[in-house]
Amino acid sequence: HVKKNGKAKYQLYDPQMSERLKEKTSIELALESSAQNGEFDLYYQPVIDIVSGSICGFEALIRWRHPSMGLISPEKFIPIAEQSSSIVAIGRWVLHRACSDIRSALDAGVQMPPIAINLSGKQFSQINLVDDLMTILAEYQLAPKNLSIEITEGVLMTDPIASKNTLGKLRDLGFSLALDDFGTGYSSLSYLKNFSFDKVKIDQSFVRELLVNSSDAAIVKAIINMGHNLGLRVLAEGVETEAQCVFLRDQLVDEIQGYYFSRPLEREQMRQLLHDNRRLESHLIRFPHISK
Ligand code: C2E
Ligand code: MG
Ligand code: MG
Ligand code: MG
Repeated sequence: HVKKNGKAKYQLYDPQMSERLKEKTSIELALESSAQNGEFDLYYQPVIDIVSGSICGFEALIRWRHPSMGLISPEKFIPIAEQSSSIVAIGRWVLHRACSDIRSALDAGVQMPPIAINLSGKQFSQINLVDDLMTILAEYQLAPKNLSIEITEGVLMTDPIASKNTLGKLRDLGFSLALDDFGTGYSSLSYLKNFSFDKVKIDQSFVRELLVNSSDAAIVKAIINMGHNLGLRVLAEGVETEAQCVFLRDQLVDEIQGYYFSRPLEREQMRQLLHDNRRLESHLIRFPHISK
């Protein structure tokens, strides 16, 4: 639709766009009070070491339950938060919650593997990121080894020199570092040798059709090989079936994350799982290739 306005200028009018804009605006507004109102929750998805078949970490994933809008996916609200400044408060909330959950699990005698935290671009480029992280860790008497940091290629490419600097500092302090959603951005694996990553996470879009799409299979194989040649651990995201697992194991992927093993869990469930390791083991028994 083209709408003529008074000054003889023409404006493109797209009703869908205005719906989206309205939604974006209401999300933006709602985000301002979401943290104080206790609308966020943090879930934890297990990461499995494919050789030992045991849990080698968890990824912390934020959930937002708005009283009237309901459950809003981070895929929707994180990019909006990133455009306003609310991402900084949200990021801080995530760190506090994760650290507090780790602390209380440790106090209850549970051995905690590292928890991976997703950092958005704005958060990652904050001047005081490193100090903030260390301050929060100290507050819960935790160390960098308790956390692992995930950033995406996009974040890296915005300012490669500054990113390299920050990653180097984090690495020196003992954080482990993962490059998330690999393959969806514009960096190449060979470029990665310049950065201090420990791990590369193959984006789930390549894993989804791994068995029916030969180019996806080729991409996954290439990422695994190059990742290993660069001394990185390679994780596959979004693993939903045993067949995907078998393929990935045969290609010597190191770690696996996905609904096949477990959906993201509430902290109590995470603790329970670590405490008796039973539910996952029973799952692994159905998948003898990777159980101990
Ligand atoms: P991500 O970091 O790549 O996280 C993986 C996403 O894949 C999660 O979606 C997870 O629930 C989903 N997933 C895991 N296994 C499977 C599977 O087998 N099949 C399918 N279809 N999906 C699976 P989620 O939790 O909706 O998060 C989406 C994205 O939002 C994350 O992608 C991350 O980029 C962002 N995000 C989530 N939590 C945070 C956070 O605390 N801070 C920041 N900055 N971003 C976050
Ligand atoms: Mg992630
Ligand atoms: Mg990812
Ligand atoms: Mg993702």
